[in-house]
Amino acid sequence: MRLDQPVEYIKGVGPVRAALLKEAFEIETALDLLLQLPYRFIDKTQVTPIHLIKPDMQWVCVRGNIIYTDIVGQGRKRRFVAQIRDNTGVLELVWFQGVQWLEKYIRVGQEYLVYGKLNNFNGTVNLPHPEMESVEPGQGNYERLMPIYSTTEKLTKAGFDVNTRRKVIVDILRNLDDQARVDFLPEQILKKYNFISYYQCLVKAHFPRHIDESEEAKRRLIYSEFFVHQCRLILQKLYRKANVKGYAFQEVGMYFEQFYKDYLPFALTNAQKRVIKEIRRDMGSGFQTNRLIQGDVGSGKTVVALICALIASGNGFQSCIMAPLEILAQQHYRSIVKLTEGMGFRTALLTGSTKKKERTELMKGLASGEIHLLVGTHAITEDPVVFKQLGLAIIDEQHRFGVEQRAKLWKKSAPYPPHVLVMTATPIPRTLALSIYGDLDISIIDELPPGRKPIVTKHVTEFHRPEMLQFVRTEIAKGRQIFFVFPLIEENEKSDLENLEIGYDRLRAEFSPPEFFIAIVHGKMKADEKASEMKRFIDKKAHILVSTTVIEVGVDIPNATVMVIENADRFGLSQLHQLRGRVGRGADQSYCILMTGFRLTKDARTRINTMVSTNDGFKIAEVDMDLRGPGSLEGTRQSGKVDLKIAQLSTHLDIFNKANQDATAILEEDPKLEHPENSTFRRYLQEIYFKTQDWSNIG
Ligand code: ADP
Ligand code: MG
Repeated sequence: MRLDQPVEYIKGVGPVRAALLKEAFEIETALDLLLQLPYRFIDKTQVTPIHLIKPDMQWVCVRGNIIYTDIVGQGRKRRFVAQIRDNTGVLELVWFQGVQWLEKYIRVGQEYLVYGKLNNFNGTVNLPHPEMESVEPGQGNYERLMPIYSTTEKLTKAGFDVNTRRKVIVDILRNLDDQARVDFLPEQILKKYNFISYYQCLVKAHFPRHIDESEEAKRRLIYSEFFVHQCRLILQKLYRKANVKGYAFQEVGMYFEQFYKDYLPFALTNAQKRVIKEIRRDMGSGFQTNRLIQGDVGSGKTVVALICALIASGNGFQSCIMAPLEILAQQHYRSIVKLTEGMGFRTALLTGSTKKKERTELMKGLASGEIHLLVGTHAITEDPVVFKQLGLAIIDEQHRFGVEQRAKLWKKSAPYPPHVLVMTATPIPRTLALSIYGDLDISIIDELPPGRKPIVTKHVTEFHRPEMLQFVRTEIAKGRQIFFVFPLIEENEKSDLENLEIGYDRLRAEFSPPEFFIAIVHGKMKADEKASEMKRFIDKKAHILVSTTVIEVGVDIPNATVMVIENADRFGLSQLHQLRGRVGRGADQSYCILMTGFRLTKDARTRINTMVSTNDGFKIAEVDMDLRGPGSLEGTRQSGKVDLKIAQLSTHLDIFNKANQDATAILEEDPKLEHPENSTFRRYLQEIYFKTQDWSNIG
């Protein structure tokens, strides 16, 4: 049997169970099934005689005969109960789900090995929802440690229970062909770590002799997964750089020259200059650019994006900037129009709410090439949007865009794909950037424009609210504007919305017309309402903007100097940092006030203290990663086929680092994997991973 044998054709699975496996766990092949490792083992040597079971025990394994079953209770209390007896006593088993099916499945008189977590109810113990393995005469005794897998009720009902599954896995392991038993990792790696073979790992991960053995096998499987994953990303990058042709932007062009000389209102920071140089080198190379631009909040990514668009225009190509939210697209549009006003560089805005007539005009301008830069939301990717010659696509905060949307963007240009720049709003630690964006080149704008006063961040407890309000009053008196942000976390959206409304009412009582005006924006409002409220704030008709995190990303209002974050303990660290980045954009001293109650959890305290002690987004990202693990970020990039089945960056960072270093070293030495000792690995990649890709012919 091959590792990529569809499970459907595996003995003991069949089409029905295969469909359920796919639905529940995305298991499609023999390998997929093998890589869903047991989450627990039952130690069969540790059977507890029933009379020795104590109410304070946790996991127990019992062996005996079922002597009685019944369905008791009505409605929600309806349950299936059974009693199991060994030589020493009787224990009750209970299920609250799947009653009908259990009635057929659990046979009185049958011997079972039963495993579960004890439930102690007023001193009487029972075993709710235990794992059941029937002990068949003449069978059994084949492993000491019995693997237990995650499953679903549907699968169990379809007869794919623990026993069947274990038999299927034994069967696969016995029947794998030689090809599947050959180790695919480069020899050098196998030697370096003295690895047992991949095949042996699979066996040990499922049927270890000791728990340690399964753990070791698992680490080795995780390493392999990371190693393959990193190699894939690096190869993809190498391949693209060597093969995917792109438009060569040979000169900086007249738009850039003109802008740089007469329009740019400030001197670029050295970091901005360096990054622009890196991008220019890419865009001039004749190969397609794919670069990630990382920069802290306020580091000036927009102007970098604009300059790249100007260079594209100077070379006769159009550009687009795609932002994940309408508000952001408008913001980019406004600041770009402002920066380029009068220089004959035409920018247009396209979002979901662009009116039909405007849209028609806009399409004409795009098709004729009169529009140089199109800013918008994912509306840009729609089919009717046709450019005369798209040469550069800039994607703001790309993790919010799916693979398909990006692919559609690519297709908008021929014969070559456009150059692609990806901008992230949140700095992420290098390790994470590598693992998620390893196929891109990375540029970092690690410097803020000069003259910015670092934002002063203060933690204020409820008790000192009056002083905070007084402070807000004096700032408004100086002509400044204030943000008040409330959490809106989806799960308890309703109560959050109430909080927002209560907070809004309280503020209105404190700051009322005609002296003060308050604007409000939240996710439940219609787009045009939101826009008009935002406009009131931007036009300085409102002194205070009350909002949920919709302003988290990117709104630029230099006159706003105070950011008050209510219930700050409920925000994540990177969110807090993003929010704080909304102030400190002008020359005035800015403040961020973190309001919380008196009691804080340990993590919340760490978050607040970190915010108070540093403004450095990269440092904050490190702390954030320590607190939460990178897991939350990991899923943010839907990079199509990320084949990480057991490896998790958050828990296996040490293994990741090794795998990444090894992958980098090996491909540096042998970028096309031509050395004989890498040939098995090369074949493996081609077979398993590159089958459907057009870059299968590395080298
Ligand atoms: P972000 O990287 O967070 O997107 P922006 O591009 O919005 O930052 O820039 C933040 C502010 O800094 C804007 O008002 C922008 O005009 C200004 N800015 C950008 N670069 C410079 C610079 N080199 N010198 C002074 N101000 C700058
Ligand atoms: Mg920005």
